[in-house]
Amino acid sequence: MEKRLTLYNTLSHRKELFEPLNPPFVGLYVCGPTVYGDAHLGHARPAITFDLLFRYLKYLGYKVRYVRNITDVGHLTDDSDDGEDKIEKKAKLDRLEPMEVVQFYTNRYHHNMEQLNTLPPSIEPHASGHIIEQEELVKKILDNGFAYESDGSVYFDVEAYNKKYSYGKLSGRRVEELFANTRQLDGQGEKRNPSDFALWKKATPEHIMRWPSPWSDGFPGWHAECTAMGKKYLGENFDIHGGGMDLIFPHHECEIAQSVASQGHDMVHYWMHNNMLTVNGQKMGKSYGNFITLEELFTGTHPMLEQAYSPMTIRFFTLQAHYRSTVDFSNEALQAAEKGLARLMDAVHGLDKITPAATSTVDAKALRAKCYEAMNDDLNSPIVIAHLFEGAKMVNNILAGNDTITAEDLKELKETFHLFCFDILGLKEDNASNAEREAAFGKVVDMLLEERMKAKANKDWATSDKIRNELTALGFEIKDGKDGCEWKLNK
Ligand code: ZN
Repeated sequence: MEKRLTLYNTLSHRKELFEPLNPPFVGLYVCGPTVYGDAHLGHARPAITFDLLFRYLKYLGYKVRYVRNITDVGHLTDDSDDGEDKIEKKAKLDRLEPMEVVQFYTNRYHHNMEQLNTLPPSIEPHASGHIIEQEELVKKILDNGFAYESDGSVYFDVEAYNKKYSYGKLSGRRVEELFANTRQLDGQGEKRNPSDFALWKKATPEHIMRWPSPWSDGFPGWHAECTAMGKKYLGENFDIHGGGMDLIFPHHECEIAQSVASQGHDMVHYWMHNNMLTVNGQKMGKSYGNFITLEELFTGTHPMLEQAYSPMTIRFFTLQAHYRSTVDFSNEALQAAEKGLARLMDAVHGLDKITPAATSTVDAKALRAKCYEAMNDDLNSPIVIAHLFEGAKMVNNILAGNDTITAEDLKELKETFHLFCFDILGLKEDNASNAEREAAFGKVVDMLLEERMKAKANKDWATSDKIRNELTALGFEIKDGKDGCEWKLNK
């Protein structure tokens, strides 16, 4: 199969033909979660986007090493270098070891990711396990003259760097503007310039997570971990670095600066970013009351939700938008996605009910080609889904007797559905059908108890007792009351 996947490169602002540096190997690095709270909607989008990429690259025959880090040294996420340490704050509140907090939320994150049917990365390095690599990076940058030490901390010297290279090429921000804007907001403090960022921070006495270094007992700056771990596991040059658009500045801009300052060139060939999401048209944030965790979404326990939405509904809904478009979550949109997904799954089941004919009046081969074309166009999943809906219509028309299909074409159509729905889009049969099964099961028990009530009314004690005893033997607890009887299943 001809490989002509194009990907949009944030650095060049255009779609480029994807050509790996060392085929068939592909290095993919994606910024992972900071683990001090439950995964929320904002975690789902990059996870699903890069899972789609991972699955498709593998399908194209590449050997992909997918690295997604766990940010757990508890440094700051807001890039104001003096903000609170969120993992430590949580640890102190709950009287836990910081690593207990990290483990607890990492486990929950993994569970949520499994629910969303995202494949686990090949390597999931923890920042806390790579302090030495980060210190080596800081030393290199210091040796090359692009950083300075200040009271036990080390800062990246943006001005010195910008004289030799160009700072801001990913985000398109100009250093002059950055200097002008930040000067007003921030006192100089330890930094020569407010846009300088921390490579190493000296820990204050109450700071728990700290490591020894040549400069102080402290901890690495946030941006250092991805540069250090990307290099360690994927090399000085690797293919793709991804993450959410909110990471372009400062995180990825700083990563580029660190790579160039330490080794003379950027590590990354293609920079990829997924767009952001909104909830009912608003940016998601705790202050807006629309901050929804995945757990709340899957159980329907957030006040904004009219019902629970299954992980596959969330996955399908996310894939119905192109990863570079914004996506707005609302009850209406999710309910529509739930119906859409059910329609697609009905088509998958419908395929098994088709009896082949001598001739085809549908073009099954064209459908597969169109799905490939859409995937190759910068992972255009909404177009793939639109084509699959065309396929679903085909299935319905054949089942209704309006169209016919040969055995060979039917095989082709089945393969196309399975390949794109399950292997590439990563959808699967949902718990929704489980819930339906459970509901049906409950109705059967109700029916049996109704029969028992009738038997009792007819003084047919033998039948009444038989139903009761058999249900009890199966683990049901039956309680007779004034208004009929109640049951529950003892586990
Ligand atoms: Zn990162």
